[in-house]
Amino acid sequence: MTAEEILKRYFGYDAFRGFQKEVIDTVMQGQDALVLMPTGGGKSLCYQIPSLMKEGVAVVVSPLIALMKDQVDMLRDIGIAAAALNSTLSVEEIRDVYRDLHNGQLKLLYVAPERLVKPNTLELLQSIPVSLFAVDEAHCISVWGHDFRPEYQALDCLKELFPHVPRMALTATADEQTREEIVARLLNNPRSFIASFDRPNIRYRMYEKGKGYMDSIVQFIVGEHFNESGIVYCATRNKAESVAAYLKKNGIDALIYHAGMDNEEREANQVAFFDRPCVMVATIAFGMGIDKPDVRFIIHVDMPKSIENFFQETGRAGRDGKPAESVLYYGLEDLMQQRFFIDQSDGDEIYKQVSLHKLDSMLGLAESVSCRRIQLLAYFGEKLSEPCGNCDNCENPPVARDATQDAQKLLSCIYRCSKTNGIGFGASHVIKVLRGEVSDKIFEKRHDELSTFGIGRDHTMKYWRRILRQLIAKHYVNVNYRVYNVLTVNARAKNLLQGQEHFLVRVEGAKQLSSRKVIDH
Ligand code: ADP
Ligand code: ZN
Repeated sequence: MTAEEILKRYFGYDAFRGFQKEVIDTVMQGQDALVLMPTGGGKSLCYQIPSLMKEGVAVVVSPLIALMKDQVDMLRDIGIAAAALNSTLSVEEIRDVYRDLHNGQLKLLYVAPERLVKPNTLELLQSIPVSLFAVDEAHCISVWGHDFRPEYQALDCLKELFPHVPRMALTATADEQTREEIVARLLNNPRSFIASFDRPNIRYRMYEKGKGYMDSIVQFIVGEHFNESGIVYCATRNKAESVAAYLKKNGIDALIYHAGMDNEEREANQVAFFDRPCVMVATIAFGMGIDKPDVRFIIHVDMPKSIENFFQETGRAGRDGKPAESVLYYGLEDLMQQRFFIDQSDGDEIYKQVSLHKLDSMLGLAESVSCRRIQLLAYFGEKLSEPCGNCDNCENPPVARDATQDAQKLLSCIYRCSKTNGIGFGASHVIKVLRGEVSDKIFEKRHDELSTFGIGRDHTMKYWRRILRQLIAKHYVNVNYRVYNVLTVNARAKNLLQGQEHFLVRVEGAKQLSSRKVIDH
């Protein structure tokens, strides 16, 4: 059967979407593929269809056991021999799966990464024909990604153990560095398929948290989204509890979902969310695999820890293509809290540094004055040619000040510093040079002799940090997380340096300016 026939006969669809056909062709020709598609873009078919066209079993690596089960049930329903191997199975069930594998009776095997890399699983797979490996949620392999999972790292071994089996890596979220990391670890000379991440039907708005923000949320839900479904994301379990209580008190049908609840109640709430229009108040535990088409709004009561998180969480709105809204509230306390979480995490020093930078980029997006969508997409390496007209900054341009000259000063300083060692220097060093401060390192590198030394004396360290955040958020400056977070100037900055583009910053009230002292590090 051809790919089209399988699509029609098993899945009931008439045509492929986006890159699906090209991805399938690539794998069928035995070449590796990197597939970046937003959630709901149709990644699963990219490996399910080749699995039916090739001899042997396709191995799908997936981190989420619940999702695995859904997929396997769905496939069996439509007559495809699929099974899952994970820790929830009994010994007998595992034996059955092994037997079916041996007898060549399975077309698709879903397996958790930690299970796949067990010696006996690998041995078994080496003894039977494997048609392909599909690594789902592939960004989990990257320490630079927002969802690093140590068990993914061991997947490195697939390259060596199965050199002739085509591999594909799929993800809905990965910045350029994460992409590189995925390719380096999992793939060999892949073709990359990068779909647009734009979700034009989602309208973005971001507000600094004021005193009455909970009442604005109630008004928003009752006034604009009465009897519709939405998700309210909170940073902690306690916050989710208290926000849900507040919404309920105000007559809103609110449910709770977080990892601290007992399973039964949590699952009941999840089922209810799919059954009726209501508001789920949740931590990020309520996440991957939520595929309810008519979620009309996502509210972030606290700032997400990265732009990737923000994108993924807001991406759960408007799957049906109809207008949907993302509203973010951010504040000083959030930052403090997130920094605290990072500090307390058991990640190593590099992980902590990366996390702090990601948090900063998110803040940069929240503080920005220009089109949110342009910046959001730029973060994922995509260029939108015009302001979107469907975000708060487009609809209601904030009061802003032209800081083009300052941005140019900082960019030149980053550039000149990086030229002296060919790699770049970190933020504090560059800003010290700009401000004409003296330190052993500055003398040692002779950066006091650079033409940009001291040209930024008239502003504080904090001010320059804010400009830098904006430059990073707008992708004018790259941060190399692999090498001490050194900064380099991106080619995109050319127009800004030549004065053909302007650089605006938000004018803030006195209150916010004083609080910024604490925000900046
Ligand atoms: P992802 O894994 O990228 O989040 P899925 O593979 O779960 O997305 O697909 C999302 C939805 O789109 C599913 O309901 C799927 O059946 C549907 N879908 C995928 N490809 C097609 C297609 N070519 N035509 C119609 N619907 C499709
Ligand atoms: Zn816009």
